[in-house]
Amino acid sequence: SKPSSKQIRQAFLDFFASKGHQVVPSSSLVPHGDPTLLFTNAGMNQFKDVFLGFDKRPYSRAATAQKCVRAGGKHNDLENVGYTARHHTFFEMLGNFSFGDYFKRDAISFAWELLTGVYALPKERLMVTVYAEDDEAYDIWHKEIGVPADRIVRIGDNKGARYASDNFWMMGDTGPCGPCTEIFYDHGAHIPGGPPGSPDEDGDRFIEIWNNVFMQFNRDEAGVMHPLPKPSVDTGMGLERISAVLQGVHANYEIDLFQALIKAAARETNTVDLDSPSLKVLADHIRACSFLIADGVIPGNEGRGYVLRRIIRRAIRHGYKLGCRAAFFHKLVPDLVAEMGEAYPELASNQARVTDILKQEEDRFFETIENGMQILEAELATKPVIFNGDLAFKLHDTFGFPLDLTADICRERGVTVDTAGFDAAMARQKEQARAAGKFKMALNLEYEGQATVFHGYDRLETPAKVLALYKDG
Ligand code: ATP
Ligand code: MG
Ligand code: MG
Ligand code: MG
Repeated sequence: SKPSSKQIRQAFLDFFASKGHQVVPSSSLVPHGDPTLLFTNAGMNQFKDVFLGFDKRPYSRAATAQKCVRAGGKHNDLENVGYTARHHTFFEMLGNFSFGDYFKRDAISFAWELLTGVYALPKERLMVTVYAEDDEAYDIWHKEIGVPADRIVRIGDNKGARYASDNFWMMGDTGPCGPCTEIFYDHGAHIPGGPPGSPDEDGDRFIEIWNNVFMQFNRDEAGVMHPLPKPSVDTGMGLERISAVLQGVHANYEIDLFQALIKAAARETNTVDLDSPSLKVLADHIRACSFLIADGVIPGNEGRGYVLRRIIRRAIRHGYKLGCRAAFFHKLVPDLVAEMGEAYPELASNQARVTDILKQEEDRFFETIENGMQILEAELATKPVIFNGDLAFKLHDTFGFPLDLTADICRERGVTVDTAGFDAAMARQKEQARAAGKFKMALNLEYEGQATVFHGYDRLETPAKVLALYKDG
C-alpha cells in the first residue's frame, strides 16, 4: 500500500533524528522580528540568525516540517496555483539543517540515502543539478554517489526564464544564501517537459523535489556577499511533491491530503466534476487562509492582512464560478482540521476563530461580488484586448475586487489588465482625497485623519450606474 503524507512526513523526521538531528517544531507563518520577510517562505527562516552567527542553539543539526506561504515577496507562487502541478500558496517544507557541522558531502549522501533507501525511489528516475562552478558538489554526486554524468546538470544564476532553474538560493534580497544542488524526479515521458536546464524545462515532467543549499554567504543591501562564520547546510523538500512521487501520482493535487480537501470543496459547492480546476484552487486556498489566520493574520487592507484578503477573495470567486451565492468557504475548515490538525495543533485549537473570521470576510464580499462580476462580465463580453484600468480601479474601489483578482479572471479569458491605468486611477483618487482632507481642515471641520487608499465596499452602486460613470469618464 502507498504511504500517506503523514507517514512520509514522519519518515523524514525519523530519518534525520537517526542521523543526530534535533527535531524542531515549525515556526509561525508570521516571521518574528524579521521585517524583510512577508511570510515564512522556507524552513531556514527560523534559523536565519543561527546561520548568521548571531544566535546559538544547543544543537548543530536540526530537522523540521515547516509551514510555508509563498504568496508575495521574493518567492511568490500565487499566480502559479491552478496552472502548474507543483505550486501551492501554502505548503510544507521538510528540511534538514547543519549549523557549521556537516557540509556538502554528508548533505548529499543523507539526501540520497533517504530517497533511494528509506523511500526506495528508483535511482534512474532521479536527476540532479549543481551550481555551474561547484565542481566539489559535481564530484560528490558523480564519483562518490555514482550518478551518471548525463543525469547531472550544471546551472548558473537565474537565467531569467519563467520557472528557470536557479542554483544560487536566496531567502530574499538580503540574508543567508549560497550555491545549491537540486534533485528532480522524472514523472515519465508521457508528460510534456524537458530536463532541468533544457529549453522546455517549464513543463511538469521533471519536477524539482529537493533543494540542498550550501549556505556560505550573507548578502547585504548593496548585494555584496559576505562569507558566513561557518559554512552550513539548509535543505527543503516539498512534502506535497515527494508525496505525489511516493503515491505514484503526478500532480500534488492527486495526493491523499488534497483529494480529501477537493472532495470537501466539491461537497460545499455542489460540484460533480472533481477535475474542476476551481476545486484545486479552493483546496489550496483553504490551507493558506486557515493557517495564516491560525497564526494571527486577519484580513485587512494592507500588508499581510491584504495578502490574506486577496487569497480569500480569489477563493470566493472560484466558489462563485461554481454557483455559490452565499458563504461556503469556511465550511471547509473542519475537513482541513481533520487532515492536518494533528500535525499542527494550532490549527485545531483555533478552528472556531478561523471559521468565524472566514465567514465574516465571505459575508462581506458576497454583498458586492454579484454586481462586480456583472460589470466585469459585461466588459469582457465586448472582447477587449486589454482590460480598462479605470474600470479595474472601479471594481477595486467600489466592489472590493483586488487588482490581482480582476487580473486572474481576465487571464482565464486571455485578457491582460491595464495596470498602469489602474495605478493612475488610484493616484488620482488619492490626490482628490488629500485635497478634500485639506479643504476640510481649512474650513476647520472635524479632522478625519489621513485619507486612506481604501474606501470599502459600503458605497454600493448598481452595475448600471457604475458602467454609466465609467462610460462618461
Ligand atoms: P520551483 O522551481 O518548482 O518553483 P523553487 O526552486 O522555487 O521550486 P525552493 O525555494 O528551492 O523551491 O524550495 C525548496 C523546495 O520546496 C522545492 O524543491 C519544492 O519541493 C518545494 N516548493 C517550493 N515552492 C513550492 C510551492 N509553491 N508549492 C509546493 N512546494 C514548493
Ligand atoms: Mg519557485
Ligand atoms: Mg526551482
Ligand atoms: Mg529550488
